Amino acid sequence: MTASASTLEAPAATQIAADRDCRNFIAGQWVETGRLFENRNPIDNSLVGQVHEAGRAEVDAAVTAARKALRGPWGKLTLDERCALLHKVADEMMRRHADFVAAELADTGMPLAFASNVNVPRGAANFKVFADLFRNVPTEAFAQDVHHGGKAINYSLRSPRGVIAVVCPWNLPLLLMTWKVGPALACGNTVVVKPSEETPSTATLLGEVMRDVGVPEGVYNVVHGFGPDSAGAFLTEHPGVDGITFTGETGTGEAIMRAAAKGVRPVSFELGGKNPGIVFADADLDAAIEGITRSTFQNTGQVCLGTERVYVERPIFDAFVARLKASAEALVMGPPDRTGVTMGPLISQEHRRKVLGYYEKAKAEGATIVTGGGVPAMGDALDEGSWVEPTIWTGLPDSSAMLREEVFGPCCHIAPFDTIDEVIGRSNATAYGLAATVWTQNLSTAHRMGAELEVGICWINSWFLRDLRTAFGGAKQSGIGREGGVHSLEFYTELKNVCIKL
Ligand code: NAD
Repeated sequence: MTASASTLEAPAATQIAADRDCRNFIAGQWVETGRLFENRNPIDNSLVGQVHEAGRAEVDAAVTAARKALRGPWGKLTLDERCALLHKVADEMMRRHADFVAAELADTGMPLAFASNVNVPRGAANFKVFADLFRNVPTEAFAQDVHHGGKAINYSLRSPRGVIAVVCPWNLPLLLMTWKVGPALACGNTVVVKPSEETPSTATLLGEVMRDVGVPEGVYNVVHGFGPDSAGAFLTEHPGVDGITFTGETGTGEAIMRAAAKGVRPVSFELGGKNPGIVFADADLDAAIEGITRSTFQNTGQVCLGTERVYVERPIFDAFVARLKASAEALVMGPPDRTGVTMGPLISQEHRRKVLGYYEKAKAEGATIVTGGGVPAMGDALDEGSWVEPTIWTGLPDSSAMLREEVFGPCCHIAPFDTIDEVIGRSNATAYGLAATVWTQNLSTAHRMGAELEVGICWINSWFLRDLRTAFGGAKQSGIGREGGVHSLEFYTELKNVCIKL
């Protein structure tokens, strides 16, 4: 059945648990469009459900609903009332933990423990963390203006930016979406979310939660579809959007920036990376192997912060390669619910084609394959899924495309280095600047790496250790702006100076 935003149906009891079809969520209502695309499970390429693609009319209805909510009940709530509601959202998400895990697994095929222990709880926690944080931000103090001889006082006000477009990727769908929706709503904005076409389910399910806990209609809206010539472009081009927060590829960021230029709308971007992992000879080798294994292969290498270039100080190079090989070969590929599984499939057949293209490119550029390099035989229906082998190479020159372009798969290249100056130079020699992980027991080395690596996040003897109060974002072509902690206020609020002549 087709329904436009103006002929809305009464909300069904559940939009996901029942049939896994995904409808748009606009002004608190489920909106079908009749323009359907398929959501397939990457484990065996089976059909998860149909997704209703939003057109310009639905995107316009969502932005209009968000504007109305901003001026209506949402805008009238106090910060405390808003934050209390966001706590309820988080609690309800955890009450429906099993539904969120099932939806995340159906879309991504990630291991059960990763969805269950990391993505869903952290996805829910994003609402509480930002609600509590912003409730406790000190208000700007009044200041007597000495330059005017005490004839004026100034103070600052923060107000919500307005209607925020939230455009999301597929790699950690729920966690990365709520990382933006949480602070946006805590600051009093309203949102229109465009989840990835590959992972529409958890954003849809969150619509049920918002409605059930009493978040006013129009505060949280979801439009489904693709990027160019579809919901992504319609949303980011929409003149009613006051700011765009986006996570995804750098190339997509360029396209969205062009869309945002019309009307000079601000953007906050978290983009791609080609992150180095640097292991000094004095490192705790057990810890480094464990850390680089996680940073390279977790979520099948589909983590923006993941390591794809490893530099190892020459005296321990051979030992490191042998141990990382053993560690990669100990990974267990399989469906999420199978005992002992540590690695799922890639997100889609299309993404696998891209990753395998890089595997071929590495071969053509003369890489030595340490392990992997192809497609594993999984058996039965799983052979229809998007599986690839965890892969390690050595022997490529720094000029190789493989050492500059983001693969976004379970793979890395390992190269030896001799001096700290050399490894800093080689690490910085890409257009990206998202993250680095450094392994050393020498404090001076650690501080120097922290200062000189051109990245937004530098982990020392760790990876993906996050305190949500700290700044998160990328340098160079890995992003624009920082979110996290009070830094999120910079994008999600407008700061105003009020000057009163006495
Ligand atoms: P993508 O750029 O292909 O798509 C992301 C989103 O943008 C999707 O919802 C897509 O439909 C939409 N989109 C695509 N083209 C668009 C257009 N022209 N206008 C508006 N919207 C458009 O990224 P992806 O493949 O979903 O995700 C993987 C990428 O995301 C990798 O590059 C990864 O490094 C990056 N990423 C970065 C971070 C970070 O924090 N820096 C986190 C996760 C992922």
